[in-house]
Amino acid sequence: MTTAAFKVVAPGATIGMLGNGQLGRMTALAAANLGYRTHVFGPDGDSPCAQVAAVETRADFDDWAALEAFAQAVDVVTLEWENIPTATIDFLAARVPTFPGSGVLAVAQDRLAEKTFANSLGIGTAPFRAVSDVQSLRAAVAELGTPAILKSTRMGYDGKGQVRLNADTDLAAAWAELGTTGAVLEGFVTFACEVSVIVARRADGVMAAFPVVENRHAKGILDETLVPAAVTPAVAAEAARIAQALTQALEVVGLLAVEMFVTPDGRVLVNEVAPRPHNSGHWTMDFCATSQFEQLVRAVCGLPLGATDILAPCMMKNLIGDDINQWPALLAEPGARLHLYGKASARPGRKMGHVNRPR
Ligand code: AMP
Repeated sequence: MTTAAFKVVAPGATIGMLGNGQLGRMTALAAANLGYRTHVFGPDGDSPCAQVAAVETRADFDDWAALEAFAQAVDVVTLEWENIPTATIDFLAARVPTFPGSGVLAVAQDRLAEKTFANSLGIGTAPFRAVSDVQSLRAAVAELGTPAILKSTRMGYDGKGQVRLNADTDLAAAWAELGTTGAVLEGFVTFACEVSVIVARRADGVMAAFPVVENRHAKGILDETLVPAAVTPAVAAEAARIAQALTQALEVVGLLAVEMFVTPDGRVLVNEVAPRPHNSGHWTMDFCATSQFEQLVRAVCGLPLGATDILAPCMMKNLIGDDINQWPALLAEPGARLHLYGKASARPGRKMGHVNRPR
């Protein structure tokens, strides 16, 4: 990976956003606050981002003619979804500054590549084995034992593409349930807590890390983020060190969110990384000196990175599916800050909004 050329994209310019979900929406709102326009590119109709963007191109990520026109129309490109095809990123990067680069995505899109990369830097992960069929699954279970978690290497998120294996699990059935040819078996980590750190990095290598936060999941989906994390100063320092080491080694330009497990004896293990704004950073919208979305804009545009101080201890609660019906009570709650994503239908498991509140 080579270091990208450093160029300031001044306010007034147009930021191209690949992906049209809520992360793109909140980035576009932050970009507008700094005087930028956002041009969103993605396949979905009535998208959360298109509702607030200045321009929308509704097209697939392999529509080269649409990508060519998009590249001509924007001054810099970033993304809100790490599964954008790397060929799309390479095509755009040949025409307009595009951050993060395809090398970052190649690692972040593949759980095996991700863990192997972390281990190559001396950073710990759950023990893991590559699995490609029932036979290799049996061998991996024999080595790592149970409980264990079988995950598809690609396209898994929010607990999707995962099967938990216990001593009595029928491995052939579990393999069939996952329905993939590429998977990773992970030993089960008995963690004291889960934490994350989001790091911003500019093309010239300047970095700024947000404070370490604690994440609580329900059914594989982030439920709450508590700020700051209730961890020792040594654990907080190690989590921050790991996140910055990964950001630097990957030469990320933009944001890198690093999710980690903290073991009862104080070790910090990387679970996964995402080179984009992250759900565990939504608290920054109301309780941090700079929001993660503004920080992304600052990083990809080569602006000074903002301060990352916590303004007050707080928590973020996701509104999933029908939780959105709580909006009247949340609006009436003193101190609560409600953020809704403009999604038309509240399907189970769908992230509809979040609320930040002091604690
Ligand atoms: P992931 O999609 O990998 O982020 O997994 C979603 C959630 O499942 C994590 O945040 C953890 O709560 C849990 N989880 C995933 N992998 C493991 C593991 N190897 N050991 C224990 N819990 C895990």
